Amino acid sequence: MKAYIEPIGKLINQFTKLPGVGTKTAQRYAYKIINMPEDEVRAFAESLISAKTDVHYCKVCGNFTEGEVCDICKNRKTDVICVVKEPKDVSVMEKAGEFQGVYHVLHGTINPIEGIGPNDIRIKELLQRISTGEVKEVIMATNPDVEGEATAMYIAKLIKPFGIKVTRIAHGIAVGTDIEYADVGSLTRALIDRREI
Ligand SMILES: [Zn+2]
Repeated sequence: MKAYIEPIGKLINQFTKLPGVGTKTAQRYAYKIINMPEDEVRAFAESLISAKTDVHYCKVCGNFTEGEVCDICKNRKTDVICVVKEPKDVSVMEKAGEFQGVYHVLHGTINPIEGIGPNDIRIKELLQRISTGEVKEVIMATNPDVEGEATAMYIAKLIKPFGIKVTRIAHGIAVGTDIEYADVGSLTRALIDRREI
């Protein structure tokens, strides 16, 4: 005999696909769903679908957006670009509130061990953006780990010939700590104390 009837087993199986969710937690989630009113379950399911179908990448910076171009690209001055690894890093920087320019999301960092080269992340798009001549400074805010540093250096080398200042956020953030886990104070400090590379 199976431990669960099929619909419950299926739901548990779906939840275990989420990061940090083991079988026990998945089981708890599944029972919670079963005990929820039907309209709440429908709203829950609809928000899952909507998160997938209504969220796009901004065609300028690569951040999440509902339209073609995100609100940050539409409303901010474009002379300073802050380069980050992932969309979630933009949220973290925005929460810190210090940065007033626009972003460029690389969607990864150079990582030879995992076979990720410069052409696999959005470096070409960054070079296209800075070739317009409006950009005065590019801040490299990739994580302070081996891949983040290597990516920052690689991009700095490509940008320098354009005569644009390239800076790196300071080591207020502990080496090995992802930007996403940095506290607001450290992140703000790291941004203010950025140095030219
Ligand atoms: Zn954008």
